[in-house]
Amino acid sequence: NHVLVCAGTGCTASGTERVKKALIEEIKKHNLEDEVKVVETGCFGFCRFGPNMVVYPEGVFYTRVKPEDVPELVEEHLLKGRIVERLLFKEPDTTKITATTDDIKFFKKQTRIALRNCGHINPESIEEAIARDVYFGLGKVLTEMTPEQVIEEVLKSGLRGRGGGGFPTGLKWKFAAKEEADQKYIVCNADEGDPGAFMDRSILEGDPHSVIEGMAIAGYAIGATKGYIYCRAEYPLAIKRVKKAIEDARKLGLLGFNLFGSGFDFDIEVRLGAGAFVCGEETALLNSIEGKRGEPRPKPPYPASSGLWGKPTIINNVETLANLGTIIRKGWEWFRSIGTEKSPGTKVFALAGKIKNNGLVEVPMGTRLGEVIFDIGGGIPNGKKFKAAQTGGPSGGCIPIEHLNVPIDYDSLIELGTMMGSGGLIVMDEDTCMVDLAKFFLEFVKDESCGKCTACRIGITRMLEILDRITKGKGKMEDIDLLIELGEDIKASALCGLGQTAPNPVLSTIRYFRDEYESHIKNHY
Ligand code: SF4
Repeated sequence: NHVLVCAGTGCTASGTERVKKALIEEIKKHNLEDEVKVVETGCFGFCRFGPNMVVYPEGVFYTRVKPEDVPELVEEHLLKGRIVERLLFKEPDTTKITATTDDIKFFKKQTRIALRNCGHINPESIEEAIARDVYFGLGKVLTEMTPEQVIEEVLKSGLRGRGGGGFPTGLKWKFAAKEEADQKYIVCNADEGDPGAFMDRSILEGDPHSVIEGMAIAGYAIGATKGYIYCRAEYPLAIKRVKKAIEDARKLGLLGFNLFGSGFDFDIEVRLGAGAFVCGEETALLNSIEGKRGEPRPKPPYPASSGLWGKPTIINNVETLANLGTIIRKGWEWFRSIGTEKSPGTKVFALAGKIKNNGLVEVPMGTRLGEVIFDIGGGIPNGKKFKAAQTGGPSGGCIPIEHLNVPIDYDSLIELGTMMGSGGLIVMDEDTCMVDLAKFFLEFVKDESCGKCTACRIGITRMLEILDRITKGKGKMEDIDLLIELGEDIKASALCGLGQTAPNPVLSTIRYFRDEYESHIKNHY
């Protein structure tokens, strides 16, 4: 038997360590050490119900396991082969027992590419990663493909940046590949800062080798020999696992000199961010790696031509990089067969807020928002009604109930006045005040603004003052139009993405919930 225990941050916070300790002791007590192997894995995604555990070969999925449950689990399941039913997940609307992840709706409706190894392997074992085909894509590009062919493959796959912008990855690479330079860089943006988002953290914690593989493939494609993973210091587990993965990859010759005997050198360093949201903006991130203050730079020049220390640099986010090895192995046609024509592939979302199954999910692009919230997310708790969902965090906007059927892809979300963002999906129920929500996000960006340009520094402060007086019952009807005008001006004149998108939560809540702004004003007028 193999017992896989989720050691992602969510389950760890719910007590994985204590469960694992109890399990090892109990296994010893029964002299089962030779027959049962306990493996710590990355996140299964079912974070709300942790600590999670899977017992193989049957693949029985246990949830909310406590140390005191362990003796029964060992006695019943490991010794007698009998499933402990009380620890199985029960779908709320059925009496059916869901013994394996294949039976659970939350998992059944997902398609996992970036998360394919999370929850299946020990992230600290390079052998287990290789057993799941990680580094095979790298081997293929280095032994069978030219850099131009790699770029062509990624271009044809239609992969777009999963950090939120949705720029075609292959096209970005093409720009950097064209540049003549003695040094080029690949940067992995792991500075995930949106409230409620934990996609990148979970991938790094659960499958760091896929990200390393993606960076090496990108390096080969553009002619870069050096990579940096920029990760916020608040992610200690992800950092520990990535550092170990880099060391292990070096030992096996999968990083360093002459990879696969191809003559191509590539190595990676980890740089820690201090948690400033603006450092997720690519040029601020570059400044931070260079040891400068994390402030955005004007664009152009774009990093693909002048990035780190003025050298051509490609910045890809964690999820984008985690897709690459599989795209190369399986080919662009396979990738294009998933998702929509303009947004191929899948997207990882962190489900948060008023939703039953908080956690991490990966769905094909084009999946309806309602399917994600109700079929996978289990719907709204406490019998409340769905009101809206916020995508794109502080840079995005809300989607009201009348658009619950929107297909989730880059373009459809922009049409609704929001954006894909990096994958935070926060659900609001009927009790949520949308004005308060907009104020929360605006306060967040005001605190996180670097202050370099007037539009963002002063403009957001003024917007917040207006929102503040509206919520305190001192607003006027004209304030709503003033918020729109200011918001549009900030979007048009701010220097970087943070300021250009900061008014979005206010603008989109006014667009769909203007009546709530008006009633705040009227009630106290
Ligand atoms: Fe800084 Fe805001 Fe200007 Fe961006 S838009 S450079 S965060 S002040």
